[in-house]
Amino acid sequence: MERLLAGLDPEQRAAVEAPRGPVCVLAGAGTGKTRTITHRIAYLVQRGHVAPGQVLAVTFTARAAGEMRTRLRALGVHGAQARTFHAAALRQLRYFWPRVVGGPQWELIDRNKLRLVAQAANRAGLSTESDSLRDLAGEIEWAKASLVTPDDYPVAAGKAHRDTPAPAEQVVQVYRTYEQLKNDAQLLDFDDLLLHTAAALEEHGDVAEEFRDRYRCFVVDEYQDVTPLQQRVLDAWLGARDDLTVVGDANQTIYSFAGASPMPLLNFNRRFPDATVVRLERDYRSTPQVVALANEVIKWARGRPAGARLRLIGQRPDGPAPKFTEFDDEPAEAAAVARRVKALLDEGVAASEIAVLYRVNAQSEVFEQALAELGIPYQVRGGERFFQRAEVRQAMVALRQASAQEPSGELPKVVREVLAPIGLTDDPPAGGAAREKWESLLALVELAEELVATVDGADLPKFVTELEMRAEAQHPPTVEGVTLASLHAAKGLEWDAVFLVGLVEGTLPILHADGDEAAVEEERRLLYVGVTRAREHLWLSWALARAAGGRRFRRRSRFLYGLIPEDHPASRTVAKREPLQKRPKPQCRVCGAQLVDAQAVKLSRCGTCPSDLDEELLGRLRAWRAGRAKELKVPAYVVFTDSTLVAIAEQRPEDIAGLVAIAGIGAAKLDRYGADVLALVQGKR
Ligand code: ATP
Ligand code: MG
Repeated sequence: MERLLAGLDPEQRAAVEAPRGPVCVLAGAGTGKTRTITHRIAYLVQRGHVAPGQVLAVTFTARAAGEMRTRLRALGVHGAQARTFHAAALRQLRYFWPRVVGGPQWELIDRNKLRLVAQAANRAGLSTESDSLRDLAGEIEWAKASLVTPDDYPVAAGKAHRDTPAPAEQVVQVYRTYEQLKNDAQLLDFDDLLLHTAAALEEHGDVAEEFRDRYRCFVVDEYQDVTPLQQRVLDAWLGARDDLTVVGDANQTIYSFAGASPMPLLNFNRRFPDATVVRLERDYRSTPQVVALANEVIKWARGRPAGARLRLIGQRPDGPAPKFTEFDDEPAEAAAVARRVKALLDEGVAASEIAVLYRVNAQSEVFEQALAELGIPYQVRGGERFFQRAEVRQAMVALRQASAQEPSGELPKVVREVLAPIGLTDDPPAGGAAREKWESLLALVELAEELVATVDGADLPKFVTELEMRAEAQHPPTVEGVTLASLHAAKGLEWDAVFLVGLVEGTLPILHADGDEAAVEEERRLLYVGVTRAREHLWLSWALARAAGGRRFRRRSRFLYGLIPEDHPASRTVAKREPLQKRPKPQCRVCGAQLVDAQAVKLSRCGTCPSDLDEELLGRLRAWRAGRAKELKVPAYVVFTDSTLVAIAEQRPEDIAGLVAIAGIGAAKLDRYGADVLALVQGKR
């Protein structure tokens, strides 16, 4: 027993030794929450308060559950259940099925899910393109996780400011049809596992009684990201009892886009007034230098609920100061990161103790490449390797086929044309799966641009060979390697050295969060999660252009302002740039109503409000566009879509900031046409 308690500080000990009943540990990153719950389970078991088999611990990922089982075994606890919510529910449902439903067990839906969503979308008259289907599926998942029925969807989606993938009424139709088709086929999706488990316990007294007799003690890690559906399951498990230990950090809530909320954590002592509530402040994971930066990042958070304001106190010996570096372009950033990783490996840091973390999976490619070039083994977590992604494989097939036909023309343009049918639209899609796919395809065009800049006579066959070589080089035997992961996938984990890369506006915060304060705050918490993964070495970097030699239109993330020491060279370079103005929620320029519809957002006014369109300017823009399209041998909409032209003619942007504020004008467009458009607006062309 003493051995068990020896490795704990007084507050952790208080949580571990609390009598059976409700316990809540509300604490920042690296303060030992996960450690505290494993010790608490071991303590309760050793004290004889519960048998190991009566404990059910839930975490959010299968990996975390596995790690918890390992830690419990190390503490001498065998037979306690540590599972994800879904795995626990699946097990219970299988067991109780004969009693609550009867007949053959329904199958898990698996890959058929998108097929059913496709059928439902088709009936609703919506696109069945795979990205829209994924976004629709994501929206249905949000609704189910939030306990929102099809009937309630329009109101609930409005309240939650959802960026709906289709008009709400159509989402309702898809949601309803999907449920119907799924039930007819006797299939269960992931959310059904939780819904049915909760219903089985709520509606069948005998089932509830047997379950509650079997499990006596419940523990939840990362409780700040619990969804209403998971909470309902937890309540069904508990019944009238209160033997529940929860731990979490409201500042690490990063799944609210999927329906999660920190409120059950923050209101725990209201629900259980007798709860033992413990706050931890000592950070055992990171050096005081890293801790200071983490405190600074979260200090600027807005709208934090009471109880979320915690300050971490670093416990480890001093380490190196976090390093901030600005680069001209992404390949330069990636190369520098790879060199630094190499230096750490040479110093004796294990590859498995190093991580490169980014916001979206599409960012991994350039870092994979740079690491592969230096022969550094790596593994991509929570996302597929770049060349194994479905859209990239599809793109490779299309490029190979096109290459056989020996097309003529400028390489990047040819590549764009080949990739257009796969989903490389001119304007980036708003978000979600479509956006990630688009980013991957754009990364291929940028590789083509790079090849043109570096190899004489670069053509499609040469490009395909180059891609194949790169794909080949990225098949290292991965056993122990540097981790490449998204910030979401890094939750709960820790490494000696962490590189937070690609910290630019539009990526962190992600473009589609802009203008929505709650979404921007979730992005800030992602940075906080990233910073707090580092034990010792922390690198933060960003690049002003995407491709090598590209125009440097990017700005470093707004979250970095105030964090960089004044005497730092990057701070001087960047200080000259104006911080991005915080964009308010998109509102109609005419009537002031809040805008939701994508078209309306682009125009900055409701479709029904009068427009102050400059017809003469629109005419000149159209003529200019026709000329450019002819020159480039592309359809006119590839230069700018009609609605972008209308938005320009209405808003008459006077500078780059004004141009960028128009949805659909990204870095590439700005690079190519920015000067022309500004000249047109000023009447100089
Ligand atoms: P996160 O919020 O990121 O999930 P956490 O609060 O769950 O963090 P843990 O992962 O439990 O933190 O602990 C962070 C690190 O600190 C681990 O390496 C853990 O072993 C160590 N640690 C925790 N408590 C102590 C302690 N009392 N003494 C020494 N090391 C500790
Ligand atoms: Mg933890």
